[in-house]
Formats: sequence, C-alpha cells, structure tokens
Amino acid sequence: MPRSSPASTLSSRVIDWFADAARPLPWRAAEVSPWAVLVSEFMLQQTQVSRVVPRWEAWIERWPTPAALAAEPPSEAVRAWDRLGYPRRALWLHRAAVEIVERHGGEVPADVEGLLALQGVGPYTARAIAAFAFGIRVPVVDTNTRRVIARAVAGQAEPWPPSTTRDLAAMNELLPRDDIEARAFNAGAMELGATVCTARAPRCEVCPIAASCAWRAAGFPAYDGPKKSAQARFDGSDRQVRGMVMRELRAAHRPVPRTALGMLQAPATQLDRALASLVVDGLAVHDTDGYRLPEA
Ligand code: SF4
Repeated sequence: MPRSSPASTLSSRVIDWFADAARPLPWRAAEVSPWAVLVSEFMLQQTQVSRVVPRWEAWIERWPTPAALAAEPPSEAVRAWDRLGYPRRALWLHRAAVEIVERHGGEVPADVEGLLALQGVGPYTARAIAAFAFGIRVPVVDTNTRRVIARAVAGQAEPWPPSTTRDLAAMNELLPRDDIEARAFNAGAMELGATVCTARAPRCEVCPIAASCAWRAAGFPAYDGPKKSAQARFDGSDRQVRGMVMRELRAAHRPVPRTALGMLQAPATQLDRALASLVVDGLAVHDTDGYRLPEA
C-alpha cells in the first residue's frame, strides 16, 4: 500500500489514536504469555470484556501455563469458567491445553495452521492469537472491525452478513505491511468499533477517521441490506435451563440425582432436553448416581 493512499491514511490515524486511547486490558500488557492471550481469546468469543477481566485474571493466576491446566480434570476448568456462558469453551480450552502439552511440548504454536488444529480454535481465534501473541501480520476481523470498515470504507450503516473471504480481503486492503503496525491496526480497528463507532450510537465527534468516513460523508444513509436474524429470547429458553443445571453441577462435588434437579424451576421435558444436550456436549456425565461434571 503506498504510504499516502487513503487506506494508509486511515490505518495510520487508527494506529495513532489507538496508541493513546487503548483500554489497559490485562491481556494487552507487554509481558503476557501467548497462553494468556489464547485464554483471553477463548473467553472473549461470546462474552463482554468487563465480565472476562476478573475471570481471566483468576484463571491465569491458577493456571499460568497450558501444562498447569492440562494436569487438572476438565471439571475444574468448567467450575472455574463459572458464569461466563457457553461453557463448552471451558472444555475446549482444557482440551487445547492437553493438545499443546502433547503435541507442542507445552508451548502455544506460533503459526495459524498449528493454532487451527487446536480444539476450540476457529479461523478468527487462530488469527487473533497469531497477531496479538506472536506479532504475525494477518488480518483479524471481528464484529467491531466489520462495522468500522462498513461505515468508514463502504459508506453503509451496517456490515453485510459475515463472509470470511470478503471480510479478510477488505481488512487486507487496509492492513499496513509492517508487522508492528499491522498488529496495532488490527487491535485499533477493533477498539474503535468497540468504544467509538458503536452499533447504536457512533461518536463521530471524537472519531480519528471522521474526516475520511464514507458513511458520514454520505449523510449517514440507513442500512438497506439483508436483515440480521433476531436474537432468540433467553428467558424460558433451553439455554437458560442448561445454565441452571450447570450452576447446580458446578456447586456439587458429587453426582446430583435427577430428582434433585427436578427442584429447578423448569418444565420436566425441558429439563430432560437440557440434561441430554449437556451429556452430548460432554459438559455432564450421567451414571446411576446422577449427573456430574466430567472428570476426564
Ligand atoms: S465517523 Fe462516525 S460512523 Fe464513521 S467511522 Fe467514525 S464513528 Fe464510525
């Protein structure tokens, strides 16, 4: 990318802004290990930053290396995950720790291919770990980045539905050649979307790329692309009942009989469906004594 192209101007403005405006999130500290970055990426997949911070700190203090986590049963990972939501991530993180120990001598692999082969690591997470833990120049595109690019570059209020090829190509157009700048731009574009160019109330008055933002220049036209599917209701959902069961299993250090779980405020058929799905997902084990977290 030529140094003075519109793309390079946009990326250098984001990088300069990020140098001052970055939130001091603990996994961004210079001394954190690749393992600590990997743990943060697992936790951040579906959970807000403010809820992740204390859980991440406790996790890294207890399990500072993959080997430390791999040495404990998966039930301890699920218990420590507590109420971060989508607890299969705890099982996957435990499994990934075991794989890192068995296949990589306890060191997080530094390449996207090696990362992708770990349990629970998808294309986004692999690129995020490669970029933020190892400084490798790869495009990292999350929801926030997609929104910033849609507005600032494509001039539309919302991004089109996700497309890995299109999203990565759009980010590649903006990504500086230099590894250090690319890392800062990946992180800065995400941060801009999370804190300034937010979905509901973009704060254009403090935005570092307001002067070149295509959506702003066009007078903020309404989005007329494909509609996003509505988010499913949580209250009364199977997901809520799964959460209630998991709370009981985390608190109990022995099997919980089905009759005891029957005390939960949920219809019996829904409870049975939740229990069956937890067993299928590997989050619960069922035997003659009842249900418990997985020990191996
Ligand atoms: S000027 Fe406004 S809409 Fe454009 S990128 Fe900045 S915050 Fe988003």
